[in-house]
Amino acid sequence: MIDITFYGVRGSTPCACDATARYGGNTSCVLVRVDGQDPIILDLGTGARYLGERLSKELGDQPFVGTALVSHLHWDHIQGLPFFSPLMREGASLQIVGPPQASGSLRAAVQAFVSPPLFPVDLGEIPATVDFVEQSNTTFALGAVTITSAEVAHCGVTNGYRIQNGSGSLAYLSDHQAPLDGSLGVPDSVIELCHGVDVLIHDAQYDLDEFDRKASWGHSTIDYAVAVAAASDVGRLVLFHHDPTHDDAWIDDAVAHARELADGRFEVLAAAEGLSLRSGDDQPV
Ligand SMILES: [Zn+2]
Ligand SMILES: [Zn+2]
Repeated sequence: MIDITFYGVRGSTPCACDATARYGGNTSCVLVRVDGQDPIILDLGTGARYLGERLSKELGDQPFVGTALVSHLHWDHIQGLPFFSPLMREGASLQIVGPPQASGSLRAAVQAFVSPPLFPVDLGEIPATVDFVEQSNTTFALGAVTITSAEVAHCGVTNGYRIQNGSGSLAYLSDHQAPLDGSLGVPDSVIELCHGVDVLIHDAQYDLDEFDRKASWGHSTIDYAVAVAAASDVGRLVLFHHDPTHDDAWIDDAVAHARELADGRFEVLAAAEGLSLRSGDDQPV
């Protein structure tokens, strides 16, 4: 079984307020758990602070060991890293997998963000060991699961990920540029990454009017998220990377719209902080 729990579901910037209380205001961070295996974290947005609190409680005196699969380095996907409390103890270790950077190493790019003057503490001063692995368009084993990384269209180099074992599968495309002309064609590389997964977590930041104004901003419409799910024959689509200007009622309407488009071919729901899913099951747990 693969268990999936959402700790941050927003795109762009956090937006905690009453109007977003139900779906949540933290940026991208998803915990993936497989029995007998160290945690896998999808992105390190501001939700990572809350995930860190939970894991620290669970671990007690044990140091944290785990892997973060980072889609790309926009703020909303790494801002939680220095607030992830399990890293504040000696003996802990986090492996960060992410796409190679044109500007230099992945470590150097993250360190530029986690160091003065942008942050008071340098990444190198954090007590835990933080290792970086640059990966794109590869498949590798992590314990009992197979992970595939594939570059997807966005603003700047960005990975989508597929996680699979004998009992379940999911694909994670947090930030994904839909075709600029508003068409719904899905690249073969995306279909290959997502094909047949139990759970597809996909960018659904805009409606059609918003996309008209922001087509080149790197994101998908709800309609395009449905198109990717349909072309990839997935079991369940989870709308993700909600725009910070969208309140809970807007997202309710987006889910209703996506369900209409899906027309019963697969289940549709919206990511919400605290929501847990089990890959392969019919209902949220
Ligand atoms: Zn983003
Ligand atoms: Zn982005």
